[in-house]
Amino acid sequence: MRDTDDYRVPDGAPRHDCGRCGATFATERGLALHRGLRHDGLTDAERAAYESARETETTELRRFRILALGALVVVYFGLLFAYALVT
Ligand SMILES: [Zn+2]
Repeated sequence: MRDTDDYRVPDGAPRHDCGRCGATFATERGLALHRGLRHDGLTDAERAAYESARETETTELRRFRILALGALVVVYFGLLFAYALVT
């Protein structure tokens, strides 16, 4: 058992269980990603769900990277201008 395998799902919370290993996920997308990364012999529907989930994940990561870079640029120039005004 890995550290990430020890968790509890609150009562009434949606859960998506892997039929192969029993891992539980909060979202269908998480389960689809798990199946594609951990298990072989996916059905066509599971493979399509994995590809769709991976595409969505990639898009969200790309958006996060752009926003994080934008935040760093704002902080950098904010501090630079503050330093220029103070000194
Ligand atoms: Zn599994």
